[in-house]
Amino acid sequence: MDMFKPSHVVLLSSPGLGHLIPTIELAKRILIHHNFKLTILAITSPSSHVESQILKSATNSSLYTIIQIPSPNIPSDISLTARLCVTMRQAIPSIKSAITNLTVRPSAFIVDIFGTEALTLAKELNIPKFVYVASHAWFLSLLVYSPVLDKQIKTPYLEHNELLKIPGCKPVRPEDVIDPMLNRNDSGYSEYLIIANNLSKSDAILVNTWDELQHRELKALNGELSGLLNVPVFAVGPLVRQPESKTGQATESVIKWLDKQPKESVVYVSFGSGGTMSDKQMKEIAQGLELSEQRFVWVVRAPTGKSADAAFFTTGCSDGFNDELDEIQKHLPKGFLERIKNVGLLVQEWAPQVAILKHPSIGCFISHCGWGSALESLTNGVPMIAWPLYAEQRMNAAFLVEELGVAVKTTVSQANNVVGREEIATLVKKVILGEQNSKSNKVRDKAREIKVSAEKALCHGGSAYTYCPISCGKYN
Ligand code: UDP
Repeated sequence: MDMFKPSHVVLLSSPGLGHLIPTIELAKRILIHHNFKLTILAITSPSSHVESQILKSATNSSLYTIIQIPSPNIPSDISLTARLCVTMRQAIPSIKSAITNLTVRPSAFIVDIFGTEALTLAKELNIPKFVYVASHAWFLSLLVYSPVLDKQIKTPYLEHNELLKIPGCKPVRPEDVIDPMLNRNDSGYSEYLIIANNLSKSDAILVNTWDELQHRELKALNGELSGLLNVPVFAVGPLVRQPESKTGQATESVIKWLDKQPKESVVYVSFGSGGTMSDKQMKEIAQGLELSEQRFVWVVRAPTGKSADAAFFTTGCSDGFNDELDEIQKHLPKGFLERIKNVGLLVQEWAPQVAILKHPSIGCFISHCGWGSALESLTNGVPMIAWPLYAEQRMNAAFLVEELGVAVKTTVSQANNVVGREEIATLVKKVILGEQNSKSNKVRDKAREIKVSAEKALCHGGSAYTYCPISCGKYN
């Protein structure tokens, strides 16, 4: 088998930090192994300050070139999936012209799952093309099998009263399906099926997981499901960010505060790059944290009154914290900031998450279970409280709680549509202090085991080496 030897790899990232960050990480990983020229084509969100900051620091990198392509104006009243797909489709002429203007002809092209229609550009150039799935193999297996489920099941998935069976994989509960499957009449659903069909237009799929973590699903993707895919799937993970070497004042202050806290005593609360909460839920979280009597760092965003993914395209950026909290304070219980000042820290909008999760004083992560956040928690051995909001996060939560045992799950009360303060306090105490009347802390022990497994995957001989077509040259 010939070795696959590209000299100029071009990566395409769709808008949103949950896409840009993993693409940059994949580029860095490729560079660890090869002396390739790398170019990232980043379709940017019009109004995300954090994205601009990340792009700015990435643009200064001497390792790769970033070309920013402003996203076309897309109506905001369609679902997130539809918006991302339409944005990427409309950006194709700009992507094509960016590729044509490259001084060094690309020799391989990697797109994320929202960029699959751009694979035709690589076909025109007759170069190898890959899809990078920045999520996990169970999600990928559902995506691959969705066109079959679409034919098999005629009722809305939520009304289907059996598990959704995927050959060779853990079945999916109807209520855990990913967002575009919740409404089959939404344009996001047909876009999602287009992505599923486009996967086989690539030459291989790279997925951000590792063999020991998801052996069954990876085996199925290259076995029972291969007839649908027709291309091999390679586990290249875990690809996670490392803390910035150059930190700003905001990061230093959080780390300084964490330095003063006992080991594994602090709860980190964050709902990712796009998650927002209602006013009622914000108050409940605040009261739950207080009730738990545990230390915490909480990334707060003012409620928008819109959907849970409302901040996806607009994530703001605040360099200061605890001093610009006027707007947020309106949504917190009276006197909260004063009462928690010795035990809690609020960070506005955006926190240095990887540096926080790496800190030894962190003992629990209340997370929306975005796969990037989940991996950052797993690779640092931090157990989680799973609080899924949108996208594939309900599946991620089910995987973390039921398969890995590294998380406990929140329940939204049917009565008032929030996760209640008592529930929050009970779960926080369970994860930080361990089981009641017992010395054991099962989720923490499990999280430590997974951390070791992740480290092994990245070592020589680990699955990231064994299976990655780019790192080992196995792909023809
Ligand atoms: N993140 C961060 N600070 C924050 C919130 C998020 O650095 O305050 C980063 C986080 O470390 C992760 C990414 O943003 O790398 C979020 O990706 P994820 O897949 O968890 O989900 P998303 O929120 O994008 O859906």
